[in-house]
Amino acid sequence: MERYDVAIIGTGPAGLEAAITATLRNKKVLLIGPDELSTKLLKAKRIDNYLGLPQISGEELAKKFLEHLKSLNIEITKDRITSIYAMGNYFALQGSPEIYEASTIILATGVVPGKMIPGESEHLGMGVSHCATCDAALYRQKDVIVIGYGKQEEAEVTFLSEIAQSVAYFPQYKTDFTTQGNITVYHEKPVSIETEDFLMQLKTEDNTYSAQGIFVLREAIPANQLLMGLETEGPHVLVDRNMTTNIPACFACGDITGKPYQYIKSAGEGNIAALSAVNYLDKNSEQPL
Ligand SMILES: Cc1cc2nc3c(=O)[nH]c(=O)nc-3n(C[C@H](O)[C@H](O)[C@H](O)COP(=O)(O)OP(=O)(O)OC[C@H]3O[C@@H](n4cnc5c(N)ncnc54)[C@H](O)[C@@H]3O)c2cc1C
Repeated sequence: MERYDVAIIGTGPAGLEAAITATLRNKKVLLIGPDELSTKLLKAKRIDNYLGLPQISGEELAKKFLEHLKSLNIEITKDRITSIYAMGNYFALQGSPEIYEASTIILATGVVPGKMIPGESEHLGMGVSHCATCDAALYRQKDVIVIGYGKQEEAEVTFLSEIAQSVAYFPQYKTDFTTQGNITVYHEKPVSIETEDFLMQLKTEDNTYSAQGIFVLREAIPANQLLMGLETEGPHVLVDRNMTTNIPACFACGDITGKPYQYIKSAGEGNIAALSAVNYLDKNSEQPL
């Protein structure tokens, strides 16, 4: 079976940048993921904080990324990896149904939300957001609903309250965070997200709430289910500054390594992860891998 120098899992900004850097360093690269790229990229209406490309839409940015890949003859292998096995001196990656082999791997799978609220996925980027920093400006002087799954989201609620006209907060955990200023706290469980008369609607077990936007803020990714023994903290893979994980020859980059969830941070980490993989391969080139 063909063995790659570097297998990169994920076609978001982190994985794409890793593939570009590893290719430029003459490594045999396998880039796996959806060929239409990350949905988190495609769903962004307007991106204002990507260096050199102001006010670009996610679709336009994705097009530029694909052109960059094409200029280097990098192909995307359209597949989904379901398990990775560390075999000692290489990794076996289980796709569906293909199996791939690589001497090093770079995990760039993003943060996969846990169980979504019915209607959440369908409205992502169209009234539903997962990122207060990214999308708060869209709701200046408007009403927003925030569903938070952890105490750390309370800072995001406060931030949103400085921009939006009102914030209805639905904490899904125990908290003493109370109604204050333009923030109203509701202890109710979301049932579904819908639209009605151009407004977003959150249905709970007891009531229906309307607003221009709904933020669903949560963290959940079982990265350690993909590769046994991988050290994680919550949904994030633990890495050092070189994007090295606790498993030799396994690197991680992008949202999967932790907040802030941002394109430029993901791309930057993709670059570091690829250089670390190259460094690892070069150091081990005298011993057969
Ligand atoms: C609507 C929206 C707007 C946003 N706006 C902004 C913004 O304005 N500015 C900003 O900086 N950030 C913004 N973000 C955040 C940004 O999208 C993320 O930080 C960024 O996409 C993370 O890149 P990534 O490569 O780490 O992961 P992702 O973009 O999540 O990509 C992960 C990739 O891995 C693939 N994958 C996952 N599991 C597997 C598997 N098992 N096998 C194969 N492939 C797999 C996925 O399909 C995907 O292609 C926004 C996000 C959303 C949803």
